[in-house]
Amino acid sequence: MLKVNYLASGGIITNYKCSSKCRHCSYSSSPKWPDNYMTPFIADEIFSILKSLGCHSVHIGGGEPLLKPDKIMDVLIAARRNKTSIEYIETNASWYTDEESAKAVLKELKSHGVHTLLISIDPYHNEYIPFWKVKALIQACSKANVKVFPWQIEFWGDLDVMDDRIPHSLDEYIRLFGQDYPLKLVNRYGLNLKGRALETYKPMMKKQPFERILEGSMSCRLLSGIYHFHVDLYGSFIPQSCPGFSIPLRELAHGADPDKYRIIYSLESAGIIGLVELAKNEYGYIPKTEYAGKCDLCYDIRNYLVLELGLELPDLKPEGHYKYI
Ligand code: SF4
Repeated sequence: MLKVNYLASGGIITNYKCSSKCRHCSYSSSPKWPDNYMTPFIADEIFSILKSLGCHSVHIGGGEPLLKPDKIMDVLIAARRNKTSIEYIETNASWYTDEESAKAVLKELKSHGVHTLLISIDPYHNEYIPFWKVKALIQACSKANVKVFPWQIEFWGDLDVMDDRIPHSLDEYIRLFGQDYPLKLVNRYGLNLKGRALETYKPMMKKQPFERILEGSMSCRLLSGIYHFHVDLYGSFIPQSCPGFSIPLRELAHGADPDKYRIIYSLESAGIIGLVELAKNEYGYIPKTEYAGKCDLCYDIRNYLVLELGLELPDLKPEGHYKYI
């Protein structure tokens, strides 16, 4: 059985749609995603299952959760109904237009038990969102008595040397800070090289022979991340560091059938070698000679199954993760 018995702390993805298409986004969020948001019904189900597994507080992320602020209020009401507290809401500040309207949103969030916003501050977001919006939202939070969790404050200086009225491309940052700037960001940011982040950095990664990758295969432990897992708007559990996989939380709590979720089971039991065998034997996957590591191989197989074969596999959801890269 694929089962989790305990979850400590995680996040709720209320929508995958985003105003931006950041290069570091491991969820592959973008404006292209359908305009779907978590419903109160799903929110109720998620919060009550999470509580039964020991998780009494969550953060909210996306996509951009405040893309349409009114869509999130019902989720917050559901959280309160289920006695689940909201640690913070992540936001990229793109929705900020003026102080009055921002304060009105903040006031409503506060009335629903939200007291902290995590506000994105980094060069990836700055390709889409001018820094003045971030600064102005921080100021509005201060006036509305909402705490700010600046993510990440270490990039403030980098962004602040640019004209804050307009967005700036990574090329501009390279011209200013050097050719190795994007590569240095991997460690400075602590990037999870999955989804679009892997696409961005793959050309800069060292290739390894296919056979050598298999030699090091071990369980990917997709169900072991209990401190920063996510549950999305479809009620699916998203493993801590590997988006693009999903199992309905309600099934996982009772024990999901490994025969139904064979992709996840292969990675959970044998690791990448298990997925390669499954893909070769059942789906006709032909490996290349080399990849930029095991996760590149994993994505190559998943892209083949979802995009090339067009398969509707229950554990490779949502398809948008692969389509909107
Ligand atoms: S091989 Fe796949 S499942 Fe394993 S860590 Fe990499 S992306 Fe995640």
